[in-house]
Amino acid sequence: MHSEEQAEQAMNELSDRVYTALRDGGLDAESVLELACLFEVWDVSTPATRELLDRSAADLTPPDLARLGKGLLVETRFEPSFALEPRLLSALEQALEVVERDVRARGITGAFRLITSDGGSLAWVEFQGGYRGSAGIRPPIFDGDIHVPLGEVADIVQETIMDLTGKVWPVCATHNRGLHVGWDQERTVWRCTGDGAHTVAPVGELP
Ligand SMILES: [Zn+2]
Repeated sequence: MHSEEQAEQAMNELSDRVYTALRDGGLDAESVLELACLFEVWDVSTPATRELLDRSAADLTPPDLARLGKGLLVETRFEPSFALEPRLLSALEQALEVVERDVRARGITGAFRLITSDGGSLAWVEFQGGYRGSAGIRPPIFDGDIHVPLGEVADIVQETIMDLTGKVWPVCATHNRGLHVGWDQERTVWRCTGDGAHTVAPVGELP
């Protein structure tokens, strides 16, 4: 394996370990410091890496470690994989259940299933045994907060159905045009471009 790949793998493994320890407890100074060193070696310098390398390891209290460990992950835009954080997949399942109501409302049958890539960094929606390889969903987490990615799942379900059936879904009954996912009064909705554009229904509530 190339040394750059090895370094990347080591950074990923250490980031996973720090993430898991911050979540479940048992964070040790060694992992956090090793991760900060690796980042600095690869020219990734952040406030957390600099503070960790400037201070003596013996001076780092558990609250310091937790703050700096979290800082390292946030500053290097770490995202846990679906494999590392099962709640990420639950959030996707919840969104898929809501979108599926719209699919069934329009009389489309066939099973849906979520599948993830080998490393667990992307997920797809499988429909009738097929999926659309170009459209993947990243773990729905931002600054440590997991959200239910209704809009992204509605988008990918739409692309998958249209790709596999060759038919437009969903369609506005008034204008006979394909709908698209939008945002209206803080809700994720289906929008139509007909008649100067209008909202048809919130996602999950298509008539
Ligand atoms: Zn319309």
